[in-house]
Amino acid sequence: MPEVRNWQLGRTMSYPYAEHHPEHQFAFVFNINRCIACQTCSMACKSTWTFSKGQEAMWWNNVETKPYGGYPNHWDARLLGMLDEAHATAGVEPSWADEGGDREAPYGTYDGLTIFEAAALEKPQLQQALGYLPADEDWRAPNIFEDVTPAGRPAPGSLGLEAEGATLPEHTAWFFYLQRLCNHCTYPACLAACPRQAIYKRPEDGVVLIDQERCRGYRKCVEACPYKKSMYRPTTRVSEKCVACYPRLEGLDPASDGVPMETRCMTACPGRIRLQGLVPVAPDGTWADDRQNPVTFLVRHEQVALPLYPQFGTEPNGFYIPPRWAPRPYLRQMFGPGVDAAIARYRAPSRELLAVLQLFRASQRVIFRFEIEEGPLVFETEIDGQPWAMYDDTVIGFDKLGREVVRLSVEEPVHERPAPRPNSI
Ligand code: SF4
Ligand code: SF4
Ligand code: SF4
Repeated sequence: MPEVRNWQLGRTMSYPYAEHHPEHQFAFVFNINRCIACQTCSMACKSTWTFSKGQEAMWWNNVETKPYGGYPNHWDARLLGMLDEAHATAGVEPSWADEGGDREAPYGTYDGLTIFEAAALEKPQLQQALGYLPADEDWRAPNIFEDVTPAGRPAPGSLGLEAEGATLPEHTAWFFYLQRLCNHCTYPACLAACPRQAIYKRPEDGVVLIDQERCRGYRKCVEACPYKKSMYRPTTRVSEKCVACYPRLEGLDPASDGVPMETRCMTACPGRIRLQGLVPVAPDGTWADDRQNPVTFLVRHEQVALPLYPQFGTEPNGFYIPPRWAPRPYLRQMFGPGVDAAIARYRAPSRELLAVLQLFRASQRVIFRFEIEEGPLVFETEIDGQPWAMYDDTVIGFDKLGREVVRLSVEEPVHERPAPRPNSI
């Protein structure tokens, strides 16, 4: 198998195909701390793409309640358990070596097995990636166990769930919402597993699509995708998945003015937790050192947003600002070893980060570049014993053609209505 470079693992890894990288990569950052689980994103996607016969249980975007919820049921706990077994069989103790923080290996080096490497050891002729096929009933509820920790839930330490991280000393229960869609992975397991080569990654934006004409419904992609974001449609007998709303990315939507527009699930979010971008990628797969691109800034420079289960090895292009109050061992299992530093940066944001955080859900057009105009000091305090200052800076976002699309200050301005139209409802 060819060796490919995976920056999230800080090393090369085995993958069935040689490296080819797009010019830009569809990527997104979700701020988990702000999600209210309203499911507006899920409905925006469903009402656009999956409202037809055979798609009833198909949620390309879903928001689930962690740690016990999942769509399909226990998708991550089951795969983590399988990966644990593969490590035990191979006599490997997975861990992350080195300090991390380096731009090209921000989380250090993963010395465990990815799902591709585990499959090569366990089932070399049968599977390209370690995985399983969920049962039909596993797809029935997109947010099962919502806000509750019911009787019959899997016990901490079972199903691969982190044993230490299931309760806090102060509370008997905790949860947070995890927003999920296809990660348009750099090394998609769905693509690797497809025997028909019906799945491809677009060279212009890295979007991963299933060719509906070539697909024969073998469901190898459903089995292999570690995030379970490829789904089978029984009425057509082919598989489907998130298409990254590609007509909007291509600037074909009438409202887009000819430039890339954010997707339906991104633009619908009232919690303003979502920021989607197109990240410039160099031919060798490294992200161009474009500090003024908001997604590059958050992921590579500020390192406040982290990939979901980077140890799976697909190099997902969805990134999360981890929830501040969930137990750290559970979060480290889910987002890797960058969790503590990311939360520390989010708790006491730098002046630049605070400004960029205002850009979430601020424009329907994809922001390719931001600038900051400095404003006055408005607040000083201490956070974790360190002095912290807040400035009323203004952040300006620009679209692909360099046109200004949004201008926001850190402090929300107060607008007083004139006397004939007083503030009332
Ligand atoms: S629309 Fe936004 S706030 Fe609502 S569930 Fe989706 S991500 Fe969360
Ligand atoms: S998240 Fe799953 S379906 Fe999407 S590209 Fe990655 S492996 Fe494929
Ligand atoms: S990007 Fe578009 S197709 Fe994909 S989950 Fe969001 S709304 Fe659905």
